[in-house]
Amino acid sequence: MDSKKKILVVEDEKNIAQVLAYNIKKEGYDCDIAYDGESGLNMALENRYDLILLDIMLPKMTGFEVCERIRYKSQVPIIFVTAREEEKDKILGLETGADDYVTKPFSFKELISRIRANIRRSSGEIVTEKKEDTSETIVVGELVIDTGRYSVTKNGEEVELSKKDYDLILFLAQNLGMSYSREDLLEKIWGYDDYYGDIRTVDVTVSRIRKKIENDPARPEYLMTKRGVGYYLCKR
Ligand code: CA
Repeated sequence: MDSKKKILVVEDEKNIAQVLAYNIKKEGYDCDIAYDGESGLNMALENRYDLILLDIMLPKMTGFEVCERIRYKSQVPIIFVTAREEEKDKILGLETGADDYVTKPFSFKELISRIRANIRRSSGEIVTEKKEDTSETIVVGELVIDTGRYSVTKNGEEVELSKKDYDLILFLAQNLGMSYSREDLLEKIWGYDDYYGDIRTVDVTVSRIRKKIENDPARPEYLMTKRGVGYYLCKR
């Protein structure tokens, strides 16, 4: 059996780094984390990684610099993961030798598929890009969820959602009519398997979503509470 592919996450925001690592490990990869640019560079040069996820704004050394310096020595696939979405950053990132670029917010599904594609590409397998295969459109009553555009529309009008709002709606829509406990949702949407925080995080997110998608948030018709269980999305 092949040994596990190994990924390095360079990200200074601890929560994000850990959620990334959790999701990456869930996909069967090994994963290390570096919390600043300098240690990220050192780890990248001292170990063999199959792919590196690199933030841009990092302490000690920017992601651009890290990328450039890794490229002197290694052709390991590098994906920038960043909140910055200016076109010049994208271009600079690719100029310093990155292979791909993911802008926050992104879905883990998309990130993982990019990771897979980049690892496959670098190990010489032929990959045909079929972007449309991974996107889907889910219609729930007046709501349309378009995973290609990461958008939710109601009666044709775009609903302004945060990343978590979107992830939660999408997950419940993909499992239409099925109820999930708040603990389940924390694990599946927030990626916290050992989350000791407040499960009311889920309640707050649900009530925020209701204000955006329900005709009357006090009497939800879509995002329903299943008493004693949790939440589900109704077919209507
Ligand atoms: Ca950062």
